[in-house]
Parts: sequence; C-alpha cells; structure tokens
Amino acid sequence: MNRIRNIVILTGAGISAESGIDTFRDGGGLWEKHRVEDVATPEAFARDPNLVLRFYDMRREAIQQKEPNAAHVALAELDARWPGDLLIVTQNVDDLHERAGARRVLHMHGEHLNAWCTACDARSRWTGPLIDRPECPRCGGRALRPDIVWFGEMPYRMGEIYGALRGADLFVSIGTSGAVYPAAGFVRDARELGARTLELNLERSQGSGWFHETRLGPAGEIVPAWVEELLGGAGDPPPL
Ligand code: NAD
Repeated sequence: MNRIRNIVILTGAGISAESGIDTFRDGGGLWEKHRVEDVATPEAFARDPNLVLRFYDMRREAIQQKEPNAAHVALAELDARWPGDLLIVTQNVDDLHERAGARRVLHMHGEHLNAWCTACDARSRWTGPLIDRPECPRCGGRALRPDIVWFGEMPYRMGEIYGALRGADLFVSIGTSGAVYPAAGFVRDARELGARTLELNLERSQGSGWFHETRLGPAGEIVPAWVEELLGGAGDPPPL
C-alpha cells in the first residue's frame, strides 16, 4: 500500500458557504444586476472604479462578520498535525482558513483584507473601505485597489503551486465547481503526476471524472470526517 506523505488541498467558495459567504451560484452570479464577471475584471475597474470599489468594500466588510466553520477548523487541525508536506491552495479571498488556525495557506486569487498599490506595488493589510481613495501607507499615493485576481489576470504563486503538485501523493479538492481555470485543471495535473485524487463537494464538479473518489455532502460534515480518518491512520492513506 502506498503511503501518503505530501498533500495538496484545493479549496473553493463551497468551503465557506456554511459560514454564510455566498458562492457564485448562491448569488445567482449577480450583484445588483451586474454579472460578477462584469465587476471582477480590470476593464470594469477602468470603466467604473466606484462601482467596483463599492462591490469589494461591501464584500470586505461582510467577511469580517463571518466565522470559520467545522471544515476550516478540521483543515487547520490537519495542518497542525500532518507530519509531511501540506499546502492548502485556496481560491477563496476570505481569511477563514487563517482564522481557523491554518498556517500553510496560499491565496491564489488574492485576499479581501489586502490592498494593492498600483503606484508602488506594495501590499498592505486593509480592513476598511477603499472607495474614498485612501493613501497608500508606503508611498502616500492614492492608487490602491483590491488585492484580488480578477478575470483575465494571472493567479498568484503558480510556480509554488505546481511545485507542490509535482510532489503530491494526494490531491484533495473541496467546495469548488471546477469552472475557473487554472485551478480547475489541478486535478488532471496532479493525477497525471501520480497523485491519488479525492473530491469533497456538495455535488459533482465539472472535472469530476478526474477524481479517483468523490464524496458528496456539506463541507462542514464531510471534511471533518475525512480529516479524522486521515489522522487516525497515522499517515496511512485514506481508503480511496
Ligand atoms: P463556485 O461558486 O463556482 O462553486 C462552489 C462549489 O461549492 C459548487 O460546486 C457547490 O456545489 C459547492 N458547495 C456549495 N455549498 C457547499 C457546501 N456547504 N459544502 C461543500 N460544497 C459546497 O466557487 P469556486 O469553484 O470557488 O469558483 C468561483 C470563484 O469565485 C473562485 O475564484 C472563488 O474563490 C471566488 N469566490 C470566493 C468566495 C470566498 O472567498 N468565500 C466566495 C464566492 C466566490
């Protein structure tokens, strides 16, 4: 039996759904009659910056009222106790993995609680609004934007992600629809590189056929059960 040592976990909006943060689908893909794709692009920001800043100011304020759920807590426990390499690659821009206590987290689509200065390139922790064009704490300019990877922009830290996928024995996808690339392609890459692949989701994702196993249910139930199984086996592989 192959032993599992190195794990890559991809999370999406579904892991935060039980914390009360809408997935794309929950919101019907709409925000005040705008398609999300039309708010979350560099073109939208150039066309109507106030609209885009207001959208992100509302999201930034909302996530600070939310709490991690049992799935975030279980992954934080796995992170704390897993002896091998482990990387939680999240598409989420909330901070619920960190607030649950996870350390090995990589935000490939940016973070609501960061602002990015397009004048000096600094990233600053940011909890308040950006609509009033506050000063960048580093250069004093007024060119802050949400530190979010918009549609058409390059996700962050892809080299690190592919490095982790190359070394992974197990790839697990949690709460993602498999619709947004390049994240949607990680399962195929991981599998071709030799990893076992497991999907934990409410329903089958678009790339479901690439997973060796799919477990369906709410993340708050099926993620803690999977983590318990994995840790209970003291490093032995889960029954895929
Ligand atoms: P998505 O909305 O396209 O898909 C969410 C998936 O989660 C769906 O397959 C759905 O069936 C599943 N799901 C819903 N409730 C669940 C639950 N309780 N337990 C388990 N699974 C559940 O989201 P995506 O695949 O992450 O892609 C959309 C993009 O929008 C990503 O970049 C994502 O990060 C971003 N987004 C982020 C947040 C956030 O930061 N919390 C919220 C919305 C969208």
